[in-house]
Amino acid sequence: MVDHIDCAHFLPGHPKCGTPHGHTYKVEFVVEGTLRSGMIMDFADLKQALHQVLARYDHKSWNDFLEYPSVENICELLHAELRAALSLSCTLRVWEGDGKWAEL
Ligand SMILES: [Zn+2]
Repeated sequence: MVDHIDCAHFLPGHPKCGTPHGHTYKVEFVVEGTLRSGMIMDFADLKQALHQVLARYDHKSWNDFLEYPSVENICELLHAELRAALSLSCTLRVWEGDGKWAEL
């Protein structure tokens, strides 16, 4: 499952990323679980859960939610919220622009 959000952020004290700027974040989400009637989870339910979590942050600043919003910390925050929402094991990869990502 893949979704995107657009967010602002800055990294306090960072020489390049210390100025407020924005990224399109691509969020890739993989769930693991037991098949029940041929599915782990309906794609529609998965899509809705991912969208609901991401909607909290879309077009907002990560700095309102995290002290140091590196892609690693963003990934950790989203991973915890998705795990809580779905009660399933999941792997989350968050892309900050092209070619840079963190995974948990
Ligand atoms: Zn940045």
